[in-house]
Amino acid sequence: MHQPLLDFHCHLDLYRDHEAVYQKFRGEQVEILAVTTTPRAWTKNLELAAGASNIRVALGLHPQLVAEGVEELPLFQKHLSEAKYVGEVGLDASPKFYKAFDKQRKAFEGVLRACSEQGGKILSLHSVRCTGEVMKMLEAFLPQDRGTAVFHWFTGSSSEARRAAQLGCYFSINSEMLKSEARRDLVASLPRERILTETDGPFTMTEGRPSSPLDVAITINALASLLETTVEEVSSLLIVNLQRLEGKKS
Ligand code: MN
Repeated sequence: MHQPLLDFHCHLDLYRDHEAVYQKFRGEQVEILAVTTTPRAWTKNLELAAGASNIRVALGLHPQLVAEGVEELPLFQKHLSEAKYVGEVGLDASPKFYKAFDKQRKAFEGVLRACSEQGGKILSLHSVRCTGEVMKMLEAFLPQDRGTAVFHWFTGSSSEARRAAQLGCYFSINSEMLKSEARRDLVASLPRERILTETDGPFTMTEGRPSSPLDVAITINALASLLETTVEEVSSLLIVNLQRLEGKKS
């Protein structure tokens, strides 16, 4: 059977002419998680995705915006009961944002506590240069039976990957993660039942333009050769993993 593609982390609302982009992917053969960076974008994105069963919208509070002084945890909390998906959330310890790391930690703790309280959320996590700290906070504030975390663009070590898998986390893989041999080895070592794919469009490039959700096909091809299997097998695996993550399959 022909499977749809899976782009489990892209920013549909950050493309130029994003309304047209939403229209274009409505009903396409690609399952999409449209993450957002601020809870102010939530309502508009929901409207744009209304009735499109292949597009899920996530309520976000991006750590880079938190670092830049955006204080929207109350607005995030206000909308959370309307959301099954949460993202992009997490921490960013790169030089530009590290000075506000405490502020980021406070916001992320608030996000995790609120998710834990409501239960059943699926989170897409940003963890630049601080995989260990993100995991520590997950362990502290989001018990496994209260929500499921997906590491987007995981850049941690292989021991951190094992720990994340033990915590029940998934990993959404993009093309940038398959460019070096060390990163490919890490991806190959992940439990297969925890693998998803993503583009992080428009922040990754394909053929010199911002990646679009259909470009995950390239990542799926690369995964097939990395895992020494077929494109069809990988495509089915991704959809089965998505269904398990969403609680539609055990
Ligand atoms: Mn992103």
